[in-house]
Amino acid sequence: MNYIELTKRQEKIIEIVRNHGPITGEEIAQMLNLSRAALRPDLAILTMAGLLGARPRVGYYYTGREPRDVIAGVLGNIRVQEVQSRPIVVREDVTVYDAIVTMFIEDVGTIFVVSEGGFLEGLASRKDMLKASMGGKDINKLPVGVVMTRMPNIIVTYPDESVLRAAEKLIHHQVDSLPVVEPAPQEGAEKYRVVGRFTKTNITRLFVSLAGK
Ligand code: ADP
Repeated sequence: MNYIELTKRQEKIIEIVRNHGPITGEEIAQMLNLSRAALRPDLAILTMAGLLGARPRVGYYYTGREPRDVIAGVLGNIRVQEVQSRPIVVREDVTVYDAIVTMFIEDVGTIFVVSEGGFLEGLASRKDMLKASMGGKDINKLPVGVVMTRMPNIIVTYPDESVLRAAEKLIHHQVDSLPVVEPAPQEGAEKYRVVGRFTKTNITRLFVSLAGK
């Protein structure tokens, strides 16, 4: 699959640079019978995409990178904090009923459970709520803390983690969302303050925006 669609002219430029590089923009233009100015946008795109490198006074050279590597490079450079959503949090003594209402009102599939100060205690997903509702207990009395997945078994991400790494966690652990947290070492081991929510929707939105839509 071709992730980056190149024009015929861009493909020709790559071929010229691969065979003759390092080569100046002027020389490439001559080989294509074009003006240097006409070529400028294409060279800018190819260098920005990382397919060509440019060195002052030397010229353009072929980086050997595939479009696939370029995608990995882009996703590896975008941080979770650039795409994350607002976290929706409740305390662990709220009822399952109220937690479900919160999910509906806030339109989220997972809510995070925090203690005073915003420290992560656990999280509850749609399926946790379904399970609780089918268990024969009164969900108006059952606290969400009883049905949630609890620390330290929570997979988290960090504001400065790459989107690619966080997406790998979602896939690997087969979950829909990750709390974005900042460690709070002064509060003791494994204490995290919740600062965001990273979900499959964030990735879908990024995917569409990277396509320029
Ligand atoms: P759904 O319940 O809609 O299928 P998930 O696939 O995210 O949503 O959740 C499946 C199970 O994994 C639930 O029991 C949930 O508590 C747990 N879970 C969800 N996200 C995480 C996470 N980041 N870390 C640990 N467990 C999680």
